[in-house]
Amino acid sequence: MTALPIRDTSKLCIHTITTKPWTIETAIEKYAEAGVKGITVWREWTQGRDRKEIGQQIRSAGLEIVSYCRGGFFPASDASSRQAAIDDNRTMIDEAEAIGAPLIVLVCGAVPGQPLPESRKQIGDGIAAIAGHARSAEIKLAIEPLHPMYASDRSAINTMGQANDMCDFLADSHVGVAVDIYHLWWDPDLQKEISRCGTNRRLLAFHISDWLTPTKDLLNDRGLMGQGCINIPEIRGWVEAAGFEGFHEVEIFSNDWWKTDQDVFLAEIKQAYLAVS
Ligand code: ZN
Repeated sequence: MTALPIRDTSKLCIHTITTKPWTIETAIEKYAEAGVKGITVWREWTQGRDRKEIGQQIRSAGLEIVSYCRGGFFPASDASSRQAAIDDNRTMIDEAEAIGAPLIVLVCGAVPGQPLPESRKQIGDGIAAIAGHARSAEIKLAIEPLHPMYASDRSAINTMGQANDMCDFLADSHVGVAVDIYHLWWDPDLQKEISRCGTNRRLLAFHISDWLTPTKDLLNDRGLMGQGCINIPEIRGWVEAAGFEGFHEVEIFSNDWWKTDQDVFLAEIKQAYLAVS
């Protein structure tokens, strides 16, 4: 069930962290110039800025704000830190509302040494504590399962199955899942769990990049689509079969690409997106 080839850039979205050396203004200008239609804004790019104004700049450049990255990090070994995380996520919902983003991506968190079931319980409690605020702001929350290599410190949610289970447990109209192929491509249950997610109308975002061999850095060595081993059209086919019609978000953390000329990188992204995604 491989997806049909991509014909144009009408569903191409880029995360501001992908072109990390660029300011928000430069990213807006360059993405729009390149025919990119969506932008996912990372929180760091709005720090100390008038978020309403940034939102207007983005929309007047003809770009759609796809999501605001990233909330979460709920687990902690003491109650006051867990409360601080909940408060910070509420603030983030207000920020997303100001900029005009319909979705917040959650990197759920984990604590080294704390049993994963305990972290998962704290994640459930944390999301439940902010869901009402998200609902009243009409902002959705997407649980992003992370690759198991991050289970000790970044996310105790590591598969689509676990993310779906968490959504079942929370049973909230504003909580769903972000499918990031970098984290999930290896999972033998991926197709089945993507389908389950779609059936429950919880598939909220689709992130693309590629898995490099060898991976030199656990965080910042993602590849451009086509540089690695992920069958992107196949997974995109599953996502589309599950009813997803949203943007294809290019999210690449890469020390190597960040060192290069970002104009050239953007041209490469566009070419790779059209050729191999
Ligand atoms: Zn992602």
